[in-house]
Amino acid sequence: MDLVTDTQRVERLRTLTEVSRALTYATSIEQVLALAVERAADLMAAEMSLIMLTDSDGLLVVRASHGVDEGRVGQLREPLTETLIRRLQELLDYPSPECFLAVPLVVQGEVTGLLAAARAAPAAGREDDEWLLSALADQAAVALENTRLAEAVRAERSEAAHRAEAQGRTHATLGHELRSPLTAIQAYASLLLEGLYGPLNDRQRESVARIHLSGEHLLSIIENVLDAAQLAAGEIPMASMEVHIAQVVTEATHIVQPRMTEKQQELRVPAAPELVVRGDPNHLRQALVNLLGNASKYTPSGGAIDVVVSEREHQGRAFAAIAIADTGRGIPDHARDAIFQAYSRAGAGPNEPGMGLGLYICNQLVRRMGGEIELESQEGAGSTFTVLLPQGGSRHSTQDIDPTE
Ligand code: ADP
Repeated sequence: MDLVTDTQRVERLRTLTEVSRALTYATSIEQVLALAVERAADLMAAEMSLIMLTDSDGLLVVRASHGVDEGRVGQLREPLTETLIRRLQELLDYPSPECFLAVPLVVQGEVTGLLAAARAAPAAGREDDEWLLSALADQAAVALENTRLAEAVRAERSEAAHRAEAQGRTHATLGHELRSPLTAIQAYASLLLEGLYGPLNDRQRESVARIHLSGEHLLSIIENVLDAAQLAAGEIPMASMEVHIAQVVTEATHIVQPRMTEKQQELRVPAAPELVVRGDPNHLRQALVNLLGNASKYTPSGGAIDVVVSEREHQGRAFAAIAIADTGRGIPDHARDAIFQAYSRAGAGPNEPGMGLGLYICNQLVRRMGGEIELESQEGAGSTFTVLLPQGGSRHSTQDIDPTE
């Protein structure tokens, strides 16, 4: 019997290295299996090779083969024992045990499969063959495990995407179902208040006004709960366009002015530099309205609210800073982080209306535009919430903003 020459050995090792490289590039289990059986046949100079993997019951089944009549081995489903090896030899009809080699695939001490190769006549260097086939089996086992994990991660991701999509549809339906009747209630209350169905006496007018106000409150709660759910699920669409800060500040202050006037609070908005950032103007307006609403809510009657826009150097970058300062009760140190969490109302009294979602939503919206919210506060003296947004675009100067306009 001829011995395997050194040149042959070097050649086989080179092939093994190439196989190993090819296996690491395989992206599916099928690719790894096909590569393993083809290369096992190459390396062993065998006419036949096959690979078996354990199924969910831990039994080995043929998953890929080369030069084999699959009808003969396709029915095999057995644990790894001497009997399986004998059955394989019989089924493949090879002349002697010397012509047949089978090695287990092992991952973390557990047998996950079997790699077998057979040839028509015995050849030299059986020990070398066994070593080579084992090395190939080891690499195939690792590659299989890696692709299995990668496939599981891919499946999990697409399942999560499906879940998020379904959740998004549920939110949209829920939003529609809740908003539509409430909008109708609001519309009819407005029509009644406007006297479209005849004059109302004072008590009727007062009651309908309450219905309208409560409806508005309920609508804002619904909007907040839906926004928070959508933000948590990463579903809120965020535009990326030029946002002119002064303009958005003007719009937001116009929205909150009536509330402040009602509470006899002074809203002061000095001339703002025209700064431009990239982001979503509607979401920025929503965040500012929320912060201004809080400033009014947590500041007693007669207090003042200042809105100051400036340019700020922050961590080596130019930011637009929108500071909303109130003369309210302030926020205790221990509550500073908590108030930005969803449904957290640290510092609010039990009878004060609110869901604890406003700051969570503001913070999330601003973060999604690449910015952040800073908080400075002194208990009993007031709070300043500053929205910082990374700057971009051109700059001009504007006139003073008159929020009462
Ligand atoms: P909500 O106002 O519905 O409670 P927010 O998330 O807007 O929810 O605010 C969370 C908590 O932060 C409030 O309950 C309040 O205690 C505190 N807070 C927010 N803004 C101010 C402010 N300008 N001054 C004092 N406390 C504030």
